[in-house]
Amino acid sequence: MKPVAQRVGLVTVAGVLVFTVYEALKTILFPGMSVITSHVITVMVAGLTTFLLSRFALRRYAAALDQIERQTDMTEETNRLLLAVLATMREAVVIVNSRLEIVLHNDAASRVVKLPDDRRGSALPRVPNPASPALRLVDATRDPAVNAAFSRALEERVAIEARVDLTDREARAFQLNVAPLGRDLAVGVFFDITQLERLERVRREFFANLSHEVRTPLTVILAYAETLLDGAIDDAANRARFVEKLHKHATRMNELISDISDLSAIESGQVKLEPGPIRLAAIVSETIALSHARHKDSDVSLTVSIPEGLVVNADRTRLEQILYNLVDNAVKFNRRGGTVTVSAEETEGHAVIKISDTGIGIAKADLPRVFERLYRADKSRSRKVEGTGLGLAIVKHLVQAHGGEVSVSSDIGQGSEFCFTLPVASQQHQNGGESLLLDVAAPSSAQ
Ligand code: ADP
Repeated sequence: MKPVAQRVGLVTVAGVLVFTVYEALKTILFPGMSVITSHVITVMVAGLTTFLLSRFALRRYAAALDQIERQTDMTEETNRLLLAVLATMREAVVIVNSRLEIVLHNDAASRVVKLPDDRRGSALPRVPNPASPALRLVDATRDPAVNAAFSRALEERVAIEARVDLTDREARAFQLNVAPLGRDLAVGVFFDITQLERLERVRREFFANLSHEVRTPLTVILAYAETLLDGAIDDAANRARFVEKLHKHATRMNELISDISDLSAIESGQVKLEPGPIRLAAIVSETIALSHARHKDSDVSLTVSIPEGLVVNADRTRLEQILYNLVDNAVKFNRRGGTVTVSAEETEGHAVIKISDTGIGIAKADLPRVFERLYRADKSRSRKVEGTGLGLAIVKHLVQAHGGEVSVSSDIGQGSEFCFTLPVASQQHQNGGESLLLDVAAPSSAQ
């Protein structure tokens, strides 16, 4: 667009030329016209021309103003949207200028870099206050990887990716993407990949453990099968023992595979729960009887302390599975002459069920991981004890599918306590389902 001064100059020159031509024509065409008449006509022509020109200029001016207003509205709306997007982003966003000073950041950034108190806790992205001193990136984070990524993006005008590990309150890992913005800015987005990496580690460990768990019984099965084929089949004294071993390890593999398919069915939501009113004391007694039958040789004593009237809303088969896994572990990982206590109470519409034992306990470092698939706390001891390492993972998913929660507390060498919650059946359900409730009295103690 031509500069305004140049336009005004052109219009003035054109006006002088038109006026000169007009005066010349008037003098040639009307040589006898009196001076007064000539002036009157000139004033009228000049007035009319000024009026028409002003109207034309004002119209264009109004149109231009209108366009500017619309563009301003659009820019404001775009800014509002962008700020709202930045504010709601879970990823930390930081924009720096060429002097590596933070010119804008969203609130999530305060969880990644150190920001002064007056710049935290706002839902909106923050632009620095001109009155306060500039916030340098190096003061917000000492991490050399972050500073280097922003410097390189500004200097080389290319997008940079970096991995950032923060260990302030808890260890967290971020993927940082920095890109040049405009002429002298750079924007960095921090993606929290802590959880992703944890899941990836769990997945890797799961497959490593799984192949180990499958290979162990398989190797034993192959060894015994080969021994039998090599002639032991005719060894009347030992063949029955070999076949027993084959059967034991094949059973273990079978249990492992059925637990895995059960777990994946529960995890993928294929298992449909059919909740109904169940008297807790009765189902716990049945579970204890089952566990007792399985561990006939164990001298661990089992005690139940559950209010007779406590009725939960749960899927019977799945609740049996939860209880059996927890009681079975409490017996398996116990010591000679130890005890297992199953107790329950009702709080705020939930039944809180606790299975505590006086067994070997679980180390603090292992506690958060015992609900992971195939995780075994005390590797040397756990391997000797029968089990697939999937029981607690199944328990966790089943409890959650019932809308409850499961937790564990333990002291190594003292014992463990697993606690889970279930919804209590409503009064109406309890009355309506009374005939369905099993009327099995809970023994106070079983050996
Ligand atoms: P497993 O088939 O090995 O019992 P689980 O998933 O049921 O598998 O348990 C995972 C691990 O948690 C066990 O291998 C054991 O190390 C630990 N664990 C579970 N329950 C107890 C308990 N009551 N006392 C001590 N350790 C336990």
